[in-house]
Amino acid sequence: MELACLDLEGVLVPEIWIAFAERTGIAELRATTRDIPDYDVLMRQRLGLLDQHNLKIGDIQEVIGTLAPLPGAIDFVDWLRERFQVIILSDTFYEFSEPLMRQLKWPTLFCHRLITDDSGRVVDYKLRQKDPKRASVKALHSLNYRVIAAGDSYNDTTMLGEADVGFLIHAPQNVIDEFPQFKSVDTLEELKAAFVGASNRTLTL
Ligand SMILES: [Mg+2]
Repeated sequence: MELACLDLEGVLVPEIWIAFAERTGIAELRATTRDIPDYDVLMRQRLGLLDQHNLKIGDIQEVIGTLAPLPGAIDFVDWLRERFQVIILSDTFYEFSEPLMRQLKWPTLFCHRLITDDSGRVVDYKLRQKDPKRASVKALHSLNYRVIAAGDSYNDTTMLGEADVGFLIHAPQNVIDEFPQFKSVDTLEELKAAFVGASNRTLTL
């Protein structure tokens, strides 16, 4: 039995916080773990900015609802789901990704949660577990699935290493150079061929 595990942001949809920063014009929301390595400090800053701009979960989802998946991503997910059971392993939050997941027709998503109060204010966040992508692939292996995975960045590399076959897609050159053990592809069309080639079944493109 085979499963496909995909990262979400940078593979199927834009980087959500960055796109959200652009749509709202709140430049400070563009900060990522590259600027603030401590994830908790970064998230506290983001939640503070949402408060400061009086953005409730509904407003946030409305803005994110104006974003679209990357070109070809909807067709790619349809194509993949006809050939594999597909699970998206992401470090995003369910509440944040919802408008984009709707456009992708709700594939299974394992990620984290934002905590909101009755007024819709985002008060906190809850990470599902430590090293969630690797832990998920390990768990799927314990269910006797063979896993083929694809992602675009550092936070995917433990998932790719744990998977039976791992691919980089849309990855920056430094990640490609640092992880030569993972075949790198540039487009979702190439990724289709990579999945067909990595499968232990005979699949058609
Ligand atoms: Mg990504």
